[in-house]
Amino acid sequence: MIHIKSASELEKMRRAGRIVAEVLARIGERVAPGVTTAELDALAEEVIRRRDALPAFKGYPPGSPHPFPATICASVNEELVHGIPGPRVLQEGDILSVDVGAIYEGYYGDAAMTFPVGEISEEARRLLEVTEGALYAGIAQARAGNRTGDVSAAIQRYVEQRGFNVVREYTGHGIGRRMHEDPQVPNFGQPGHGVVLRSGMTVALEPMVLAGDYRVRVLDDHWTVVSADGRLTAHFEHTILVRDGEAEILTRL
Ligand code: MG
Repeated sequence: MIHIKSASELEKMRRAGRIVAEVLARIGERVAPGVTTAELDALAEEVIRRRDALPAFKGYPPGSPHPFPATICASVNEELVHGIPGPRVLQEGDILSVDVGAIYEGYYGDAAMTFPVGEISEEARRLLEVTEGALYAGIAQARAGNRTGDVSAAIQRYVEQRGFNVVREYTGHGIGRRMHEDPQVPNFGQPGHGVVLRSGMTVALEPMVLAGDYRVRVLDDHWTVVSADGRLTAHFEHTILVRDGEAEILTRL
């Protein structure tokens, strides 16, 4: 069921979004060679709890034999999404994708960003630029009256025209009282297809981009998704509010 939010619900969504944005801003200040992903995870949890919110990913999904054990997903280089934070030390030249969700008074915010660690290669720099650009190309299409396929196609076109590929198995999604609600918003598709977007819908758009082939696999830890060919990957995500005209980005300070 797609849920159009009331004004008071939207205020909670805005608050959840700002908390997530604050986490990513603080992590961005901390990312550097020598830092572990576990340190960044601890920082994220501290910020979220200080704002009277809860980490949305920890223990997700409920009832799973392998619930996600941390506050952030920390995915390095060929790790596309769902990397588990731990003792890994970031190295000069790495790229680190951080995905974070927070629950404020029952409402969810969800966003991701890929950070350069020190000086990075030209290919890595371009991959980050294209993935972030694809997110904004998708957001530009996410307006009332358009369809999810318009958003998906804009993301896919932006990425493929620049020589990279979009993941097939993981998608953007509606968000609100649960982290993943209808509709799904894939990173590939056809204009004019899919669900009609309506003013008041809240959606997480999240291009996941691979420098090489789009195929991925999941590691034995049950979570970490890596590129099958071992090449670099990146991930940018915002939670947005669909309106008539330009969407409001909820996960931005
Ligand atoms: Mg998401």
